[in-house]
Amino acid sequence: MELSKLAKELKPSATLAITAKAKEMKANGIDVIGFGAGEPDFDTPENIKNYAKRFIDNGFTKYTAAGGILELKESIINRISDDYGVIYEPKEIFVGSGAKHVLYNLFQVLIDKGDEVIIPSPYWVSYPEQVRIAGGSPIVLNTSQDNNFKFSPEQLENVITPKTKILVLNYPSNPTGSTFTEAELIKISEIVKKNNLIVVSDEIYDKILYDGIKHTSFVQISDEIKKRTILVNGVSKTYSMTGWRIGYAAGNSDVISAMSNLSGQSTSNPTSISQKAAQEAFSGDQNEVIKMINEFELRRNYICNELNKIYGIKCSIPDGAFYVFPDISSFFGKKYKDIEINNSVDFTSFLLNEARVAVVPGIEFGSDKNIRISYATSIVDIREGVKRIGDVISKYW
Ligand SMILES: *Cc1c(COP(=O)(O)O)cnc(C)c1O
Repeated sequence: MELSKLAKELKPSATLAITAKAKEMKANGIDVIGFGAGEPDFDTPENIKNYAKRFIDNGFTKYTAAGGILELKESIINRISDDYGVIYEPKEIFVGSGAKHVLYNLFQVLIDKGDEVIIPSPYWVSYPEQVRIAGGSPIVLNTSQDNNFKFSPEQLENVITPKTKILVLNYPSNPTGSTFTEAELIKISEIVKKNNLIVVSDEIYDKILYDGIKHTSFVQISDEIKKRTILVNGVSKTYSMTGWRIGYAAGNSDVISAMSNLSGQSTSNPTSISQKAAQEAFSGDQNEVIKMINEFELRRNYICNELNKIYGIKCSIPDGAFYVFPDISSFFGKKYKDIEINNSVDFTSFLLNEARVAVVPGIEFGSDKNIRISYATSIVDIREGVKRIGDVISKYW
């Protein structure tokens, strides 16, 4: 059957592909340590699950408003207000089936053919694809590990053209874990204003920060910046609720209502029960979140420390999220069993085949010098995985 042009150009999600490959090896009896997953390994907190169960029993199992129920929108509004002191109205909130779906709808309602969208690299894998699906041109803004994967104001100005419509921000970042300080955000905001840009600010890791760093939301910078920004967040990462599929956008009411209309003609509402669960996540006890973050911080400290002891690996210490993104380019040109390593995919295959450790090649995030290791897995697995990486590297080099 003849597929559409769009379908032929679509890339499968790289992170999901690696996770699937590792699962397949495991199913075949090969013991693989999976560092590929982009989701917390913790269970969804009890209070959230119990709240959802109540609504199953109460029969809250029918269609809801396409853009989300009012009670959930109110709990989102209260969370943003408590966290950042910024006030939204229900008509400025859209709830979708995960932040990925929210971003998809957002690009669909903002982008016309030829519009340029600036995406700092390393980037989350779906941004360029979603922009392309919407007919836009992703403009990649490269950063370097020496600058903690952050772009300078000058670099940003250099890629702006009359066609630039949107700047995508994602901090703390997936895959680098790097975040912006308030002073850096203010500098970015000046350029945003001067060039009349819209900012899509994906702050899904806003709670997962270490060393006592406090997150500044882009919408906190000023009233004018709030008006230019669509804030994106969700429950997947903070509340360990990836399977429930709830994300939201906050911002301009015309954009929000267009996103709801699009859902009304495609997915309809996000799952009714999940919306109730998300309501409890945002409004209920936040203690479990603190526990999970403390555990992530211990793992981050361990994994960075151990990786930096391994010959040839250069690992920056991330501020947040649950990934490290070490530079492995010192292995390029080296050989094992007559196979030469020339890029991040080669190195990923080397780790999978020789060490039985699954990571994601950095090229998928726009940086071929790096690999992404997720530490959203048990400390036992982290110890074993890092040991295997060290062993196999010292075996060959
Ligand atoms: C995980 C992730 C998302 C998507 O999360 P959902 O599960 O769809 O809510 C969006 N952006 C970034 C940067 C992510 O890491």
